[in-house]
Amino acid sequence: MTWSVWHVSPVITSIFFILGVFTLYQVVFNWLKTVVHEKKVPISDNVVKSFSGVVYMLIFIFSMQSTIVGKTISWEFMNFIIIALIFCAYFLDIRVPIYYFVPIILVYMLFNHSIGYWESWCHALSVMFSYWSFNYIRRLPSRAHPFIGYIIVGVIWGGIMWFFVALKFHLTTSVFLQEWGYLVIFEGLLYSYVRMLLRESELKGHLEAFANHDALTKSENYAAYTSEMKYLFSNSLRNNLNLSMMMFDIDHFRHVNDTYGHLAGDLVLQKAVATAQNVIDDNDPKVKLYRTGGEEFNVIFPGYDLPATEPIVHQIFNSLNHLTVKSSDDEISFTVSMGVSGISSTDKKPDDFYKRVDDNLYHSKKNGRMQITAI
Ligand code: GH3
Ligand code: MG
Ligand code: MG
Repeated sequence: MTWSVWHVSPVITSIFFILGVFTLYQVVFNWLKTVVHEKKVPISDNVVKSFSGVVYMLIFIFSMQSTIVGKTISWEFMNFIIIALIFCAYFLDIRVPIYYFVPIILVYMLFNHSIGYWESWCHALSVMFSYWSFNYIRRLPSRAHPFIGYIIVGVIWGGIMWFFVALKFHLTTSVFLQEWGYLVIFEGLLYSYVRMLLRESELKGHLEAFANHDALTKSENYAAYTSEMKYLFSNSLRNNLNLSMMMFDIDHFRHVNDTYGHLAGDLVLQKAVATAQNVIDDNDPKVKLYRTGGEEFNVIFPGYDLPATEPIVHQIFNSLNHLTVKSSDDEISFTVSMGVSGISSTDKKPDDFYKRVDDNLYHSKKNGRMQITAI
């Protein structure tokens, strides 16, 4: 069945149209973000967000405007365009230096046949300054009622932008007021809708971080280790890249718990992770530490052969063996044992590699502890 007449007021269809445009953006952005993560492309989520936001909104603005360009009603999509700008400026918080607008606006005015009109130039200037204002209030230190600032800026700049459009197209006062009023309604709706969408994706982000991190030491956990190792293992063998791994385990940790209590044991684990992580950060951020067991940790060295790991492994070993942890009146010191190995072309699966490293750790334990076995 098709409807030849659409019996819904244009305001209602506009609302659903706008919400649909932003929902589609969110879906596209989430998809792009997942692809970038899966392919391990070294681009931050913020860059993906800004780039996809600008491209998406420009495509949206130019393709809509192309259907009415040069006609007497070429102002009809103005509210959608303003809403798209607010979305980029306020919600995506894309920082565009104001002079970047000059080429975009020139292209737009040429495309829109409006370059010869002074009203269009005034309108273009108000678009630039409204973008800047939305960007500015977005970055003010957090306030109790951010919506009030947002809607005040929206109402004022909306009125100015529509004023110049009304002059150029000789719109009646009632059309001018009606469009300005619709804009304010759209701005209000956009605010609540986008906040809902963003809250949901923030929640997803928190859950992801929670699933990959260990609550006690804040280091990445076994789940994060297995997924990273799965990728690095196949990537290293396929592209003939070096990969090494070190595993360490605190010696006689049960004795630490039994002597000083579990809370003191927890503190030792936290300090041990912070100390090892400091050494890693001072050397190479590509090296990653994971808590893979109770008091067992794995350190992955992407791109390292076995001899190249030696300085970092020794630094971690020395700093942990010299660490003392203060808990109540006690000064707790402990030792660690380590196993290190590099990937081999005979490894069929990540566990084959893991087992060699684990065997080396076991060798250190068996031979008296507080030592490193690297084969
Ligand atoms: P070894 O030198 O052979 O490694 O001896 P060990 O006592 O360290 O080894 P074992 O594996 O027998 O004991 C590990 C202990 O680590 C047992 C467990 O209670 C403790 N442990 C595991 N996770 C935690 C934790 O999160 N907090 C505390 N306090 N203790 C933990
Ligand atoms: Mg132990
Ligand atoms: Mg253990």
